[in-house]
Amino acid sequence: MQKKYIPFAVFFVALLVFLAHFGTRYTTAAKPAFVFADTEKQIYLTFDDGPSTKVTSAVLDVLKEEKVPATFFLVGEHIATRRGIVRRMAEEGHSIGVHSMTHIASQIYASEEALLKDIADCAAAIKDVTGAAPSLYRFPYGGEQRARQKSLVEAQGYTVVSWNAECGDGIAKDATAESILKTAIKTAGNKSRVVLLMHDGAGHEATVEALPRIIAHFREAGYAFRAF
Ligand SMILES: [Zn+2]
Repeated sequence: MQKKYIPFAVFFVALLVFLAHFGTRYTTAAKPAFVFADTEKQIYLTFDDGPSTKVTSAVLDVLKEEKVPATFFLVGEHIATRRGIVRRMAEEGHSIGVHSMTHIASQIYASEEALLKDIADCAAAIKDVTGAAPSLYRFPYGGEQRARQKSLVEAQGYTVVSWNAECGDGIAKDATAESILKTAIKTAGNKSRVVLLMHDGAGHEATVEALPRIIAHFREAGYAFRAF
C-alpha cells in the first residue's frame, strides 16, 4: 500500500468498527422485545371426550390448516372404532392424554382401585394405537375438586392437567359458535398462560365452528399456541 493511502485505510477500518459496534447494540436491544412478545403469553387448546368421528376429524382439519398444536384427553372406549383418528393426532404432532376408559362417574370414582384401573385401561388403549404410553391425565367431572385423588394419579407418573378457561361447550347443550367464542375470551381474561377447556365428543359441531375464530382471536392478542 502506498503511504498516502494509509490515512484513508485507518479511517475506513475505524468506520467499520464504529458501525459494527452500534449495529450490535441495535440488534441486542431490539431482540428481547420480540422474545418477550412470543413467549410470555401462551394458550393451550385442550379437547376432552373424543375421539369422535366427525367432530374430532373436523377439529384436526382446522388445527392443520392453522398450524396450531393441541392436547386431546381421550375416552378409551371410543378408541377401538376410531384408531385412524388417534393415529392422525399423534402423526400431526398433537399431545394425547388419558381422560377415562368409560367416562361413567359412578364407576370411575367407586374406589381408588377403580380409578387406577380406569386410567390404566385408557392408557393401554392409547398405547395400542400410538405405541407410546401417555403421561398426561385429566379428571372427568371436575378439575381442582379432585385434590385427594390427584396425588394418587401423580404417583403413577402422570401429570394432571386442569384448566383455567373454558368455552362453555360442555355445560350448555345449546351453545353456539358465538357464545363459545365469547365465553372463551371472557374466562381467559388477561391470563398470560391460558389452558382452555373444549370438547370434541359427538355433537360438538359448534365448537368446530368456533375454533378458527378462537384461534384468530388469541393469535391477534399475541398468544403463542402450545401443547402439553
Ligand atoms: Zn369429560
